[in-house]
Amino acid sequence: MSDSHAARYVRQLRAQAKTAEASPKPAEALSCPYCSEARMFESDRQLWDHATLEHAPNLKSLGDPNRARIFLREEGLRISS
Ligand SMILES: [Zn+2]
Repeated sequence: MSDSHAARYVRQLRAQAKTAEASPKPAEALSCPYCSEARMFESDRQLWDHATLEHAPNLKSLGDPNRARIFLREEGLRISS
């Protein structure tokens, strides 16, 4: 019987809750991962519209459009932060 195991488990749960809270950031700027000069967009929709116009080959290489859009949003957030 050890309490340390349970304590570690609780810490893990708390850490997970913290990251879950931190992830949704509304109205955050996104950067286009494909433009050489990172262009900023106010929403993932704007970034997506831009990418479908300017970077269609890049999006195609990502395969499934739904996954491509999620990837684009995550990359855009990562680059702009
Ligand atoms: Zn671009």
